[in-house]
Amino acid sequence: MLATLPLLEQTRFPALRRNKLETLQVNLGYLCNQQCLHCHVNAGPRRTEIMARETVEQVLAYLRAANIGTLDLTGGAPELNPHFRDIVRAARAQGTRVIDRCNLTILEEPGQEDLAEFLAMQRVEAIASLPCYLEDNVDRQRGKGVFAASIRALRRLNALGYGQPDSGLILNLVYNPQGPSLPPAQGPLQADYKRHLSDEYGIVFNQLFTLANMPIQRFGSTLISKGQFEDYMTLLREAHQDANLESVMCRDLISIDWQGYVYDCDFNQMLGLPLRLNGRPRTHIKYLMGVNLTGNPIVVKDHCYGCTAGQGSSCGGALVKD
Ligand code: SF4
Ligand code: SF4
Repeated sequence: MLATLPLLEQTRFPALRRNKLETLQVNLGYLCNQQCLHCHVNAGPRRTEIMARETVEQVLAYLRAANIGTLDLTGGAPELNPHFRDIVRAARAQGTRVIDRCNLTILEEPGQEDLAEFLAMQRVEAIASLPCYLEDNVDRQRGKGVFAASIRALRRLNALGYGQPDSGLILNLVYNPQGPSLPPAQGPLQADYKRHLSDEYGIVFNQLFTLANMPIQRFGSTLISKGQFEDYMTLLREAHQDANLESVMCRDLISIDWQGYVYDCDFNQMLGLPLRLNGRPRTHIKYLMGVNLTGNPIVVKDHCYGCTAGQGSSCGGALVKD
């Protein structure tokens, strides 16, 4: 894979500082049952990096002490971490909102037969990638058979109450473009998704989040090898909107890697750019106890334009709602 960081170092992206911390996003490891083309984590079935029990305990201790409202679990496929269910139970027992970034096909993996029921019982919010409502496009980006497996998984989640009005079980979907273009407006695309998935498959969901592809990791490397990297960066830079700076996710979220180190966001984690605290090159979650991060500078590079281009992108979709 080709390195993207050297191409992102020089930047004129505006300086940012942190607001109050609201969300702890935890990467439980890079192991995944899929190997998608656009994956910014470079996850896959052969990755062995998995968060260990000791680190899980440190994360839970911080979550308790810092009284953070939301725990956002990601990976890889976070459910493949053997401690996934313990983390969910512990966080839910203390009233924390838990989000599982679920790739849907995981529900059909051996050993995960009761995962959907577990998530529903714990009232975990599910955020699932479905980069298109057309089978060919999804299979091209995420692998053969992924669309059909995703539809089966969505039906199972719907049957448990996910996405159904008044159930309180939230099921949100994520769209990202197939190639080096900006996502279309979130509102109209959500309406198209809702209509198509309901008419064709009887599937319901709550919200569609549209995300721009980040010019890093596997997607960034593909752009470099196709000679499209600079054009894509120009597209992102020219579409930058200052208004999006207020709500980029690094303002109120920290991202923890599988070894417990802290980053301003998941993208910085993937680029190896740790959160800078008091001049230290990197900080472990166990040393964050009692530290107030409000006002701390955020590490920004040129990839940050991926968050502020057009309607903006964050782990909760477009920043400008239409
Ligand atoms: S399912 Fe998600 S984590 Fe796994 S390879 Fe695809 S994009 Fe990456
Ligand atoms: S990539 Fe986005 S979320 Fe991460 S530091 Fe840059 S602006 Fe913030």
